[in-house]
Order: sequence, then C-alpha cells, then structure tokens
Amino acid sequence: RTTQKRSLYVRALFDYDPLKDTGLPNRGVAFQQGDILHVTNASDDEWWQARLVACAASGGDPPTAAEQAAAFGIIPSKRRVERRERAKLRKDGTAGSLDSCESVHTQQSQQQPAAPSEDTASAGNLSDSHVAIPTYEAVQQLDIRLARPVIILGPLKDQLNDALIGQFPDRFGSCVPHTTRPQREGEQDGRDYHFVDSREQMERDIAEHLFIEAGQYNGNLYGTSVSSVRRVAQSGRHCILDVSGNAIRRLEAAGLPPIAIFVRAASMENLCQLRRGLTEEQARKLLDRSARMEAEFSAYFTATVSGQSFDEIFSQVKRVISAQSDRPVWVTCRDED
Ligand code: 5GP
Repeated sequence: RTTQKRSLYVRALFDYDPLKDTGLPNRGVAFQQGDILHVTNASDDEWWQARLVACAASGGDPPTAAEQAAAFGIIPSKRRVERRERAKLRKDGTAGSLDSCESVHTQQSQQQPAAPSEDTASAGNLSDSHVAIPTYEAVQQLDIRLARPVIILGPLKDQLNDALIGQFPDRFGSCVPHTTRPQREGEQDGRDYHFVDSREQMERDIAEHLFIEAGQYNGNLYGTSVSSVRRVAQSGRHCILDVSGNAIRRLEAAGLPPIAIFVRAASMENLCQLRRGLTEEQARKLLDRSARMEAEFSAYFTATVSGQSFDEIFSQVKRVISAQSDRPVWVTCRDED
C-alpha cells in the first residue's frame, strides 16, 4: 500500500465495460481504447480508483456533463486485466481475439515500458506468460507551443491532405524530404529534396532515429527527417505528413506529437461512395488495410472521423484540427520516473 504513484495518468489500450465485469466492489468507469484516465489510487492489487479525463472517440474532448457523473469510480488494475486475459487465452487455446491488440503491444513493449510497474508472476505457465497483454500505458501532458504535425490515415487521405494545403497555405505546409538520389536538372537542393551525398551518413541518421520514416526506391534512400518536420512547425504551420501509423509514436518521441486523424469507411458501400471508380477488389483491399491499421494504431489516433461525403469528412477534419489547438496533448512517458 506504500507503492502508490502520485498523479498517474494512463492511456487505456483496451475497451472496458463495467456492466460486463463481475465482482466490481464499487461503481465502475466505462472507457475505450485510447481514453486517458487519471488513476487516483493504485494501491489495491485488483482495482484502481480512477477518473476519465479525455475521450479518444471525441478527439480528446473532456467528458461531457452527463459523462462527468459516471467518470469517477473503479477500473480493473493492470494485473487484473493481464490475469483475466491470460486465463481467456488459455481457455481459447490460441491468441484468438487478442490478435489485433497484441501487435500494438509488441511494438510498444520494444520501445517503452508499460504503465505502472506491477509484476505479472500470477500469470501461470511460461507458454502464455510471455504474451504481452495490452492494458494501460503511463502518459504525461505535454505543453506544446508549436503547430502540431497532421497525419491523416485511411481512405481519402491524399484528397484531404491536398485540400488542407491548397485551401489554407498559411496554416498547413509540407516538408522537404531527404534522398540519396542524384539531383536532376531544374531541381533545387532544400526545395525539392535535401540531396544527401553520403548514403552511409543517411543510414546512420535513420538508425539514430533522426528520421520519422524512410524507404528505398530504385536503389536510392528517401526519408522524412524530424528536423524538416520541426522546421515547418516552427514556421507556425501544421506539417502535413503522408506516413504510416508508426510515425505517430516516433513524432511523439521527438517532441512533435501529431494530430493523427483516422478516416473510417463504415462499409463497402460507404467507401465506394467516397471513392468513386474503385473496383470491388480495390475497395476490399483498402477496407482490409484500413481495418488492420485501425487495429494496430487506434489507441494513438487523436480522432476517428467518418461521413457520407468528402465535404462532410473534410469539415470534421478541420474541426478536429482547430479544436486540438487548445487541448492538452497526452504523450507516452518514456521513462518510469
Ligand atoms: P523521385 O525520385 O522521382 O522524386 O521520387 C520517386 C519516389 O520516391 C516517389 O514516388 C516515392 O515513392 C519515393 N519518395 C519520395 N519522397 C519520399 C519520402 O520522403 N519518403 C519515402 N519513403 N519515399 C519517398
């Protein structure tokens, strides 16, 4: 009872419905993956006392008045969640329903320790105790004064990116990538690309996490450096990035937490309405890819939007970005202090 941490804030990495939980000693708090909770008492092994402070589904909004009343109560401790999920795994025989969550955690466990440090020895045999269970991760509030980068994921991202930069060139910009390919006639160093002389140097810089993403094309390296993104942010514009979900955490780690907006197509019909001209196979592939992306990264999305038309979705994207400018930013703690 003496190990309780002060001001422990966590991001939930799973959905929790207290109505479906048995044995709750007190009123439970419902939350969803990505929500931020203030854990006010973590001294009990099974149950923590917590308050919901930001809801992921509404782009980080604080709970509404109605939600406020239900926002304080009991949540299962990290240890309890792990023990119950492991029991479920053993019963099912396979990873089954945890597939999607595991990938989130695998990636995260390599980079960051999980939230409150509790032992997991109660988990049972070795064959399943090594499986990482997504529970909570410690987060902290960041006071950021730069224009945050924007990452749009899912269908329509190219059209939305173009519309933001095209309609609001003073508020949104793009950054100049690096490449090892030779400069072409008419290209300008620092405008079209940062042309890099030494491939070895760029490889070293990628290994040292100076790039948020990098790839190879026709034998040449290409990548987006943290400093190029920071330069756009310092100019007061949101840097629009066309990158994978992995970049969200890399940017967070670099002190540039992005506004990550996932566009969800509700159905095949909805997708074909939004992206006319897609073949059925293309649409199916796009939906599959989106579903995988959502399963892997949704805890890190600032908001998820959907709608019947481009205009409807574009309005929501603009609203989320505007609303974020006066919202606190929650980022994963990188050490356990
Ligand atoms: P080009 O050499 O013709 O300018 O670009 C060729 C290709 O390089 C692009 O179509 C794109 O696939 C890739 N590329 C350009 N910039 C970047 C970047 O910043 N990151 C990555 N991963 N690839 C890029």
